[in-house]
Amino acid sequence: MKNWEANVRRVTPYTPGEQPNQPDMIKLNTNENPYPPAPGVAKVLKEMDTDAMRLYPDPTAGELVSAIAENYGLEKDQVFVGVGSDDVLAMSFLTFFNSDRPILFPDITYSFYDVWADLFRIPYERPALDEDFHIRKEDYFRENGGIVFPNPNAPTGVELPLADVEEIVSRNRDVVVIVDEAYVDFGAQSALPLLKKYDNLLVVQTFSKSRSMAGMRIGFACGSPELIRYLNDAKYSFNSYTMDRTALAAGAAAVKDREYFEDTCNKIIETREWTKRELKALGFSFEDSKANFIFATHETCPAAELFGALREKHIYVRYFPGGRTDNFLRITIGTREEMKKFVMFLKEYLKR
Ligand code: PMP
Repeated sequence: MKNWEANVRRVTPYTPGEQPNQPDMIKLNTNENPYPPAPGVAKVLKEMDTDAMRLYPDPTAGELVSAIAENYGLEKDQVFVGVGSDDVLAMSFLTFFNSDRPILFPDITYSFYDVWADLFRIPYERPALDEDFHIRKEDYFRENGGIVFPNPNAPTGVELPLADVEEIVSRNRDVVVIVDEAYVDFGAQSALPLLKKYDNLLVVQTFSKSRSMAGMRIGFACGSPELIRYLNDAKYSFNSYTMDRTALAAGAAAVKDREYFEDTCNKIIETREWTKRELKALGFSFEDSKANFIFATHETCPAAELFGALREKHIYVRYFPGGRTDNFLRITIGTREEMKKFVMFLKEYLKR
């Protein structure tokens, strides 16, 4: 080991899902939206003033913050934006999880949480999901340095009922509780209405899933003005200009088109329910998903084998080998056509 290596901040990085690029592929592996962003986004990009690119963007991200605040009936000082919800979550870990007590998140959940905790030297404990992959709210009724969980959870798709979310928040008034709602728009109940009652709640959402903009990197957090002020203090101590001019304008255009948003979410929900019926008929089982993916296991065919067989046909799903997830595949909901082809393949393959 070289001497300078003793001073390196070593981390085991998060492994993002594979981004293959075959012309004929069916990409169901990173929970992207199969539909394009709202038409207003294309218009904004076409009309973008390139001369203005020599100027820094608005550090307060005012245009985007206002559009989000208006859409959700919040004040501007209740909204924080970042470069995808990964950026918003990382900044929130840095800002709010500064205690010697462990923060709490489920053992099976978004696999970035332990990476940020390690990066920022935050102690953590991971209460186990129950046998059916549900969060046990009682596990979060003990002393801790903060709480974070996705709702619906990933990669399971299971929703924690809003009353249970509220109980976790209300029993933890001394710490910040972060609810990561990356997938909430596909039929789950948001905790946003709880913001009226709890100043220790931070709700994080993203444009990557329900707004079809994973490639543009926009995420946001909603909370009390105090929480948002602390988040901005940390942001301005790190990088003032996180959101570029294109993201600010295109993001605002996406939020304003509510009808398109509702239409595409509904299409995905319908396709998800169709896929659930087909998968059940083929011998798969899964907990009910309220997200844009299904976390399923087959009664006879091992997940690892199926993952490989699908891959050979350029159908990509996500597989998390090892532990309790070892025999499950996480299948993103694509278009109805894509899901039909996926199901057709399964029918043939499982017949053998
Ligand atoms: N939270 C959860 C639970 C996720 O699955 C993802 C997607 N990988 C994210 C946050 C981050 O998404 P993004 O940075 O694209 O907003």
